[in-house]
Amino acid sequence: MTISFDLSGKTAIVTGANTGLGQAIAVALAGAGADVALVGRSSMEETETAISAQGRGKCLTIQADLSTVAPVQGVIDQTVAWAGRADILVNNAGIIRRADAVDFTEADWDAVMDVNLKTVFFLSQAFARQLLGKSQPGKIINIASLLSFQGGIRIPSYTASKSGLAGLTRLLACEWAGKGINVNAIAPGYFETNNTEALRNDPDRNSSILGRIPAGHWGRPEELGGAAVFLASAASDYVHGIVLPVDGGWLAR
Ligand code: NAD
Repeated sequence: MTISFDLSGKTAIVTGANTGLGQAIAVALAGAGADVALVGRSSMEETETAISAQGRGKCLTIQADLSTVAPVQGVIDQTVAWAGRADILVNNAGIIRRADAVDFTEADWDAVMDVNLKTVFFLSQAFARQLLGKSQPGKIINIASLLSFQGGIRIPSYTASKSGLAGLTRLLACEWAGKGINVNAIAPGYFETNNTEALRNDPDRNSSILGRIPAGHWGRPEELGGAAVFLASAASDYVHGIVLPVDGGWLAR
């Protein structure tokens, strides 16, 4: 048996691919040979440039605000119209709102749950429907968090959404594993992106987080690429329903 991480001939959809972890994942999947639909609200120029500089994988930009489920079917349809197929879905787009639980607003609760959990479910459903209709295998990779395992502080809707996402990953894996769709998640540790800017700018939080990471540094987005390629490739065909930490050893501590 040859173990293959090659994604040639596959088409991936990556949400929130303009920056941070989504950008790094899109670049890594393209580097492994996939064509990639870059989905999000913002310009994808930087990601497109990085992919074309690599010289592997072509890309398409799809404008979509994932704070509602309205664009979900269009994302799948546009991808299939462009590439003739959609094999891999990376649910990466996500937001965070910070406030003490005692002050937390309903608006901040709903905004986070809508992007991080509701849209993820309905996009996964639309993605799976087009695969199941053709009995075609596929891969779904949800971007979870250490807050899928831990409580955290001052981020109640984020923790609820990411803990919910771990459960949803397991449920979808149970329903679709027998139908050729792998559903798994990656739990990034503390990475240098917009999402963690507030923490990195707070000297106390920065040093306490850094001091607890066995690897001794904040994650660099490109350090997530290997896990994404693994879960997108044939190498993970018998892997279902896991939440894979890529955290510099944080959870081992
Ligand atoms: P980021 O803020 O740089 O990226 C978030 C992405 O989501 C952006 O591309 C943004 O445009 C997109 N997005 C947000 N709301 C959207 C909407 N309504 N419609 C379309 N796109 C939208 O942060 P990041 O760290 O790259 O986050 C990516 C994912 O990784 C998120 O799900 C986040 O929760 C998760 N994560 C990040 C870390 C970390 O340390 N950075 C750790 C654990 C999990």
